[in-house]
Formats: sequence, C-alpha cells, structure tokens
Amino acid sequence: MIARSQITETIDALKHTFQDLAAKGHQGFDCSAGSLEKLADWGEPPEAPYETLQDVRLDVGDCQRCRLAKDRKNIVFGAGSSSAKIVFVGEGPGFEEDQQGIPFVGPAGQLLTKIIEAIELSREQVYICNIVKCRPPRNRNPQPDEIKICFPFLDRQIAAIQPDFICALGSVAAQTLLNTDVPISRLRGRFHDYKGIKLLPTYHPAYLLRNTEKKRDVWEDMKMLMKEYPYET
Ligand code: URA
Repeated sequence: MIARSQITETIDALKHTFQDLAAKGHQGFDCSAGSLEKLADWGEPPEAPYETLQDVRLDVGDCQRCRLAKDRKNIVFGAGSSSAKIVFVGEGPGFEEDQQGIPFVGPAGQLLTKIIEAIELSREQVYICNIVKCRPPRNRNPQPDEIKICFPFLDRQIAAIQPDFICALGSVAAQTLLNTDVPISRLRGRFHDYKGIKLLPTYHPAYLLRNTEKKRDVWEDMKMLMKEYPYET
C-alpha cells in the first residue's frame, strides 16, 4: 500500500522535474492521435492505492505479534473521526480500555475528554489512539520490542487520517513519535514535526491526575493548539 503522503511527494517530484525541463527549454509533449492511441493501448494506471483505517484494522487482525496479546481482552485500535484534523496519541490501553476496546475511557480518559472539550472539540471530531494497542500487564510501560512491533500500525493510521496536528500525551507517545529520549518536560510547550504534521507533546492525563499543578502547563499547550487549529466558523 502507498501512503497518501508518498503520493503527494511523488507529485511534487514530478512538478519539479517538469519545471526543470521547462527551464532547460523543453516545450510541450507529443499529443498526436497516433501517439495517444499507442499510449491508451498500454493501459491505465492502477487505482490510487490509498490505505484506509479499515485496511489497517484488517491488517492488525487478531494480532498475536507480541506478548501483549496473551493477557488482553480487546485490541484497542482507536476511536473517532477518520478525517480528524487532530490525533491524540496515548501510551497504551488501561484496564477499562481493555475491557471496552475503546481508548481513554477510564479516569484518565474522562480527563482527556474534558481537555478536548476545553479546546471546543468533541471526541467524535478528533481521533484517539495509543502507541500500543493491547494493555500492558499491570499498566506497566510498553517495552521497546512491543512498541517496535505495534508502532508501524499507528504510523499507517496517521497516514490514512492525514491530520494537521498530533497531540502526543506523555513521554512514551512523545518520545516514540519523535524518536528521542528527551524528557517530556523539555519536549512540551512547542510544536515538533512528525512527517510534515505538527506534533505537540504535552503531559499525559494520568500524570495530571497525580500532579494537578501541571494542569496549567497542559492548558498552555492546548491554547497553542487552539491558536493554530482551523476551526470552521
Ligand atoms: N492511558 C493511555 O495511555 N491510553 C489509554 O487509552 C488509556 C489510558
């Protein structure tokens, strides 16, 4: 499958080639009836193979690719709009999420819902997912090999949605997406880049439940997002 971003890159490359050719004095193309007939005979290009969220979900299947499959009840693929302008990425499902198969529905999820509403959006307008799709036992952090196996699916979900923004919730999400080990306290508060998408790291809502004084920082981050978010009027 070819991601939409790759197609855009190819079109851009073609555009530059044509601009280059024009700059070197090449003019026009052979559009004579004979040539067109020959080219038509060579067949049409295949349908643009855009991958959808459903394609990715099908590929995840009844995943047994890592040890997290053993104890999970449900795969927590993601929830929300397939054309969301913003994707929230957490770490991994907790107990409630594993029970229901829906991301961020436990206590941290209720706080995330309030944060989303505070920026004048609803859960249905955004997309919510995690770095790993199965609950790590006793809510431990996902391990590097589990992340390595699961992350390509998230990458493909993001390519299918093509959001304008990603909000990385907590250090696991921010460090994985940005491929860094810089602490979340130093990553948050500014936009980074993920494959041309603006990525804003902030503290995880579960951390906010334990450290309420950090809510102010998250609100500052959310205000940055609101400033740039293309609200429809
Ligand atoms: N914490 C996460 O990181 N993700 C969830 O879905 C729930 C809690």
